[in-house]
Amino acid sequence: MSIFASVPKAPADPILGLVGRFKADTSEKKVNLSVGAYRTAEGKPWILPSVAEAEKLVVLDTTQDKEYQPIDGKPENKLPVQQLLFDQSVIDSGCIATAQALSGTGSLQVIAQFLKFMGVKKVWGPNPTWGNHPKIFARALLEYETYPYWHQESRGLDFAGMMAGIQKMQEGECILLHAVAHNPTGVDPTVAQWDEIVAACRERKLIPLLDNAYQGYASGDLAKDGYAQRLFTSSGLEFFIAQSFAKNFGLYGERIGYVHAKCATKEAAEVVLSQLKIIIRQAYSSPPKHGAAIVNKVLTTPELKDMWLKELTLMSNRISDMRVALRQAIEAKGTPGTWNHVTDQIGMFTFTGLSKEQVVRMVEEFHIYMTADGRISMAGLNPSNVQYVAECIDKAAR
Ligand code: PMP
Repeated sequence: MSIFASVPKAPADPILGLVGRFKADTSEKKVNLSVGAYRTAEGKPWILPSVAEAEKLVVLDTTQDKEYQPIDGKPENKLPVQQLLFDQSVIDSGCIATAQALSGTGSLQVIAQFLKFMGVKKVWGPNPTWGNHPKIFARALLEYETYPYWHQESRGLDFAGMMAGIQKMQEGECILLHAVAHNPTGVDPTVAQWDEIVAACRERKLIPLLDNAYQGYASGDLAKDGYAQRLFTSSGLEFFIAQSFAKNFGLYGERIGYVHAKCATKEAAEVVLSQLKIIIRQAYSSPPKHGAAIVNKVLTTPELKDMWLKELTLMSNRISDMRVALRQAIEAKGTPGTWNHVTDQIGMFTFTGLSKEQVVRMVEEFHIYMTADGRISMAGLNPSNVQYVAECIDKAAR
């Protein structure tokens, strides 16, 4: 009899479990639209050429050793990543506490623990949201509730519902917002709506947390995709950012990201950083070096940064092309329903609107792997499979 006999077996992760099933599927037609990772037009993972170049330089650099990094990452690595989010004058003010963390998920974990430490009681997240969000906050023993986000009829943003939801939030509670390219819906507030959201956060005295996992992926333009952060910064509010470099650098497995807290004063930022370091020290002591060195090399070498910016445009353009191709192919079949949302939505995902039963058919009958909520990763589409996917959506939707 094992001491583990009373431990129940957990279900596979809803997204990563699908990846395992996809690998095991022997059908030639199979298509993986489940995981949010970029694929080339040939359906292959892509090491960005800027990243490959930077990696060579990092490996060749004999001045580097394998010693531990500081708890919050190397100080010289912070400025270039802050510059993707904040104006120089704000950085120079010293009001930002920045710490390297384990990609977006690890950054959210650190922020969640810090919120608990601050005495925050509740976090409000959009409905729907990335499946890991509620669990990360629950793990930090925070209460978690949702505010309306998705409008089923228009397959767009339920802005009125969202604003009404914010009115229910109490002073000192945290509001989780996707900085750009909302996952899973692909629907973001407009510029004017962001203004109202920021004003409401101020009025309700909320603590905003911006999850920035897709900067550059929505429009291909970092500045455009960084709009929400700049707006929150210029509003003078204090807020957090969880910054991931998984998608925009294609560094998924290197686990590279940063926590930022924009504080009212330099003194507050110093205090916040001191406490973030305690949390990180106890959780995993110090962050990994390799991904941080690659990101730093790309961002501080002008030719590599130029390459990277072009690669971001290439990735986001390929996804936009797939949006157009999928919509055209579905509409050409006269599939029931409206399909403008396929091109209206942005970023990596489309929330197709397929029901749970229809998704089961897509997976079981057609070998097209997608999450149960009807989300598909547009990066998994390519010229060779888009017609097949459209045909199957057509069959499932009838
Ligand atoms: N936030 C959102 C909204 C995401 O979609 C993801 C990745 N799917 C993450 C955070 C975290 O990603 P990672 O930990 O790989 O950076």
